[in-house]
Amino acid sequence: MTVPKNVDLIILGAGPAGLTAGLYGARAGLKTVVLEPKSPGGQMLLTDDIYNYPGHPDGITGQHLANLFLEQAQKYNCEVLKRAGSTTLQQESDRFIVTAGDRVVQSEIAIVATGCSPKRLGARGEKKFSGAGISYCAVCDGNFFEGLDVAVVGGGDSALEEAAYLSRLCNHVYIIHRRDRFRASDACQCLIRGCNNVSVIWDSVVEKFEGDDLLENIRLASVNGSEKRDLKANGAFIYVGQIPNTSFLSDAVATDPDGWILTNERLETSVPGLFAAGDVRKKEVKQVATAVGDGSQAAITAEKYLMMKRCNAYPGEVA
Ligand SMILES: Cc1cc2nc3c(=O)[nH]c(=O)nc-3n(C[C@H](O)[C@H](O)[C@H](O)COP(=O)(O)OP(=O)(O)OC[C@H]3O[C@@H](n4cnc5c(N)ncnc54)[C@H](O)[C@@H]3O)c2cc1C
Repeated sequence: MTVPKNVDLIILGAGPAGLTAGLYGARAGLKTVVLEPKSPGGQMLLTDDIYNYPGHPDGITGQHLANLFLEQAQKYNCEVLKRAGSTTLQQESDRFIVTAGDRVVQSEIAIVATGCSPKRLGARGEKKFSGAGISYCAVCDGNFFEGLDVAVVGGGDSALEEAAYLSRLCNHVYIIHRRDRFRASDACQCLIRGCNNVSVIWDSVVEKFEGDDLLENIRLASVNGSEKRDLKANGAFIYVGQIPNTSFLSDAVATDPDGWILTNERLETSVPGLFAAGDVRKKEVKQVATAVGDGSQAAITAEKYLMMKRCNAYPGEVA
């Protein structure tokens, strides 16, 4: 059996929340490890340009911002284990033991910053054509559809931002939205108003995705079911919400019915010594700026918890 490596602070996830927590933890003198199953950056890697993160008046690419976050955390000796494998988190007496692939790390405090993943639409054919026409990331896959017709499903900020991005690569972009108006911000709606190869199909849902080996056709139905139509498209990009990356957590960690972690304002979870930061927790605004705020808050609270615990004086434990 692998002997666990002892550290002061374990952080799960190297998105903006996890890398910020790593920076703060390491700068506070804690031996800090961030475990990430993929490449560091989280959802920042799924978007082209970010225009609303302060300090970058002309915008910055998600990839560039991710590199800067990583560089800054590592500069202060935060250890970032990339492509670390899938994670399990167990608690044994007063320690958290995290296994990621063949690595085992243990600490008295841990921060869950595992973010969220795109929600599946649930339409027929979605699984079959995932990676064969259907994608959840325009920045990752948009180039495959250069000069072709594609659809974007959704009506929020991400859907419109990515439709505007695809309009620069594709012949035509159809936005399929189940309502008669967008819930996206005015700023994002403005992005597509200027695109003459983007059109909106209102009040419609996807019934099924069709084709032989690759996606060729999207069968649409009006929301009241009265009309059906076929939309010829080679690609479909789906932006219909997110699900939290919390399936690896035990039932001891309180979540809402959809799996988002519940915290107090100090970002403590229901398990003493375990904290949560960023999109993985139940909160209203999910942005890079709020994830960064969470990362710093969680690391500061966690560090105070550890110091008090080591002095045997954490308020929660005082009679
Ligand atoms: C298409 C798109 C466009 C966006 N545009 C903007 C924008 O313009 N401006 C803005 O402010 N925000 C934008 N956002 C939102 C922003 O990217 C997120 O709010 C932010 O990245 C959340 O940070 P996070 O660290 O909480 O989570 P995430 O970024 O989701 O990072 C979580 C990390 O945890 C890792 N992970 C998952 N499971 C585990 C596990 N079991 N163990 C360890 N690690 C795990 C993931 O691989 C990931 O790297 C956009 C999001 C999307 C999808």
